[in-house]
Amino acid sequence: MANVYIVEDDARIRSALVAALSSRGHIVHTSDTGLGAIGPILEIAPDVVVLDLGLPDVDGADLLRMLRGVSTVPVVIATARDDESLIVRLLDAGADDYVVKPFSADQLEARIRAVMRRAMVTPGDLTIRVGGLEIDTAARTVLLDGRPLELTRLEHDLLTHLARNSGRVVTRDELLAEVWRQPFGGSDKTIDVHVSWLRRKLGETAAAPRYLHTTRGVGVRLVEPAA
Ligand code: CA
Repeated sequence: MANVYIVEDDARIRSALVAALSSRGHIVHTSDTGLGAIGPILEIAPDVVVLDLGLPDVDGADLLRMLRGVSTVPVVIATARDDESLIVRLLDAGADDYVVKPFSADQLEARIRAVMRRAMVTPGDLTIRVGGLEIDTAARTVLLDGRPLELTRLEHDLLTHLARNSGRVVTRDELLAEVWRQPFGGSDKTIDVHVSWLRRKLGETAAAPRYLHTTRGVGVRLVEPAA
């Protein structure tokens, strides 16, 4: 069960989301304006905020920045535009994930579960488990379905960063900064090459991904494979 705060000016979408999420046992609060949401979000301290980008009173991206100034609450952006550069900008500005309209309650709930799971992982946890993957970050060893994987240093760092953030799209800029330690950008090609090597070792292909899902122009998402 999650305590969800929805910022959405469209009354129909808002009531549909409230009905769907409440019937699944979540507690839902809403606001139909952006500026009216900040006070209640700080007061209620929800587990997650679902933020519509197209609000009448304030630009959603500006609201995200204001919110980030005062709160670390996980934010899932809801956008009507499947605009890669906008999505990347918002992820880099502190959004935790996004859904593109129209989205189903199932999709939104999956995103909510993923951001909450990540929020519960303590940074000190030494072992990361996602599906059949088990990463021992201290010993720097990886097991896949109980079998050890031989990874290069970079592959290990890449897999660890993606697994720590599993369920979320990690942008290319973030990978370059956090894994390649090149905060001022580098070659996208490098990322593609290492992702494809990692894929091979995980026994999957770009056409039939299990753990590693690439979102063109946005980044890479590591997920628990469907059973
Ligand atoms: Ca709207």
